[in-house]
Amino acid sequence: MTPPRRLLLIDDERLQHRLVGQMLRQFRGAHFELEVASNCREGLEQLRTGRHAAALLDYRLTDGDGLSLLAEARASGCRTPVIFLTANTGDDLDMAALEAGAVDYLEKAALSPKVLERALRYALRLSETLEQLRQLATRDQLTGLLNRREFDRILGDELNRSRRFGRSLALALIDIDHFKKVNDTHGHPAGDAVLQHVAGIVAAQARNVDFVARYGGEEMAVIMIESTAGAARVAMQRTAAYLALTPCRIGELVLPVTFSAGVASVPDDGDSSAGLIAAADQALYAAKRTGRNRVCSAQEAQLAQAVAV
Ligand code: GH3
Ligand code: MG
Ligand code: MG
Repeated sequence: MTPPRRLLLIDDERLQHRLVGQMLRQFRGAHFELEVASNCREGLEQLRTGRHAAALLDYRLTDGDGLSLLAEARASGCRTPVIFLTANTGDDLDMAALEAGAVDYLEKAALSPKVLERALRYALRLSETLEQLRQLATRDQLTGLLNRREFDRILGDELNRSRRFGRSLALALIDIDHFKKVNDTHGHPAGDAVLQHVAGIVAAQARNVDFVARYGGEEMAVIMIESTAGAARVAMQRTAAYLALTPCRIGELVLPVTFSAGVASVPDDGDSSAGLIAAADQALYAAKRTGRNRVCSAQEAQLAQAVAV
C-alpha cells in the first residue's frame, strides 16, 4: 500500500473537519492523512509549507475569504493543488475559484466519499502533469539545471527585487576549461558526462536560495541572492577548488576538470540583466586570459584593463 498523503483542510467549522475525516476513512483506494487549519492565517501558513499533496479550502472563513487566501498562497509560489469547498450554489464562484488558481470546486451539500475521492484523484493527477510540464519547460535535460529561458526570467525578477529592496545580488558565469579537448579526445558522451559532473558539483555547492542554470554549451550561471561580489567570488573559488580536487570518473577513465568564472554584482558592475551579464562575461574572459582554473571579479577585470592601457 502507498504511504498516506497529507491532505490539508482549511475550514472554520469543526463539523466539517469531522465530516471530511470520516469520508477519508471510506475511500476505496487513496489513503490520506488529514491536517486541519481553522482560519485564514493558519491556513496560509500551512499551505506555504508546501508539504501537502492537496488542500480543501472553504470559501468563507471567519477571518477572510478563501479566494484571497489562495491568491496570496499562489503569489508566494505555493503549487499545492487546491479544491474549493463551498456552501453556496449557483453563483459565479467556480470561475472565480479557477481564476484564483484552484483545480476544482465542490459544493458541501453534494459531498460524498466517492465524489471527494474522485476529485482528489483528478487534482493529484493534474498537479503531477503540471509539475512534469514545468520541469520540461524550465530545466535543461542533460544537467537538470535551470535552462536559459528560466535563467533570464529569474535574473530579471531578482534584479527588480534587489532594486526595490536595496539588496545586493551577484552573478557568476562559469565556463569549463578546455572542454572541447574532452569531446575531441574521448567523444561526445564523455563530454556530456563531464558537463553533468560539473553541474552536479556547482549545484551542490550553491546555497539553497541561489539559482544555478545552464547558460550555454559548457557555460553555467549562478544567481546569488543577497550576495556581494566579494562573497560571490569566495564562494566560486571554493567551488572551483572542490572541482579541481574531484575528477570526473567514467568507468576506468579519470578526467581532471577545472572551470574559470567571472563574477559581477549590482549596483557596482551594472543594474540591468544585460549590463550584469556583460560585466560577468568580461571577468570570465579575464580569468581565461590569466591562466584558467580561476575566478575573477568584474572590478579586477576592469583594473587589469586599465593597467594594460
Ligand atoms: P576554453 O578553456 O577557452 O573555454 O576552451 P573550451 O574548449 O572549453 O571552449 P570552446 O568554446 O572552444 O568549446 C566548447 C565546446 O563545448 C564546443 C562544443 O562542441 C561543446 N559543447 C557544447 N554543448 C555541449 C554538450 O551538450 N555536450 C557536449 N559533449 N559538448 C558540448
Ligand atoms: Mg564556452
Ligand atoms: Mg570552455
